[in-house]
Amino acid sequence: MSQYLRPNIRAMAGYTPGEQPQGDGYVKLNTNENPHPPSPRALEAMAEVLRSDRLRKYPDPLGTAFRNTAGKLLGVDPDGILIGNGSDDILTILTRAFVPEGGLVVSPTPSYLLYATLADIQGARFESAPYTSDWRLPPWPKPDANLTLVANPNSPTGTMVSNLSLRSLAKELRGPLVIDEAYVDFADSHAIELTSLPNVIVTRTLSKSYSLAGLRFGFAIAAPSLVRDLVKVKDSYNCDMLSLAGAQAALEDQDYLRQTRAKIVATRTRLFAGLRKLGFDVLPSQANFVWATRSDRPVKTIFEELKLRKVLVRYMNYPGHGDGLRISVGSDAEIDRLLEELKRM
Ligand SMILES: *Cc1c(COP(=O)(O)O)cnc(C)c1O
Repeated sequence: MSQYLRPNIRAMAGYTPGEQPQGDGYVKLNTNENPHPPSPRALEAMAEVLRSDRLRKYPDPLGTAFRNTAGKLLGVDPDGILIGNGSDDILTILTRAFVPEGGLVVSPTPSYLLYATLADIQGARFESAPYTSDWRLPPWPKPDANLTLVANPNSPTGTMVSNLSLRSLAKELRGPLVIDEAYVDFADSHAIELTSLPNVIVTRTLSKSYSLAGLRFGFAIAAPSLVRDLVKVKDSYNCDMLSLAGAQAALEDQDYLRQTRAKIVATRTRLFAGLRKLGFDVLPSQANFVWATRSDRPVKTIFEELKLRKVLVRYMNYPGHGDGLRISVGSDAEIDRLLEELKRM
């Protein structure tokens, strides 16, 4: 059947998500899931939907109640918020909306591999703008791209670029700039203020900091006039009623977010120090993972050996940048187990 596919779909490799092992007993530090449970208020809000007869009806296509909560929390116009079935859905909507077949998508590298995959699906070209050696944005090679994406904090490095450099990039570009803030709740700053620029779109997810990866909810913040157009591209009911209720309640529970965030930041500090002590080069991280490399031995064998010992981390190899291990900040017990296994090895 493959002869019926569009040539770009036939040729593309497809995105490979982190492994989700089916067996028990794994310490799972490979997909940046949050080791702490979601807010009890979010769970209760979803249970309340289940107890009612509301699932009989379609959900609100715009997510008005969620938008009002998010708008208030972030100090932005609720009409400037676009809801998504995870922020990957938001990234898909943005690619479909902005990038024509044969168009150009640009992102600094190494970064989130999905950006190039979305360009492949669209039949567009992807070009990378390699980070400088101290993880800043390079002189920008392609200001005329149809879509430019910067993950900030970046994955897999956990590094961040300043709002000042993002602002000047946005002004230099002739197209939209997406600032992917999937990990921003673990960082010291964010870029919501830049959404006052007409071509800046900030994306957020509830998968990482709100411990709701399984729920699939993300959103974007942009100029209200732009969001009105983007709504035309999304599935009408891309967010179900359960996820809308859960996401809204999770955002309303900022105390809970502060508590779990503080735990993760404390564990991140321990993980960073523990890995350094074992001879890894580790970048200071603004996210819920660290990027660990070494020059004295291949990290691929460390990854494989850890997997045999039922500790899963993410091995990544970026042409031109080298390889490393992206290790999620799990619970204290999980990080102890990781460090213990590494010590034994
Ligand atoms: C995890 C992640 C996302 C996607 O999050 P979902 O909301 O779960 O789809 C987006 N961008 C980056 C950089 C991520 O690491």
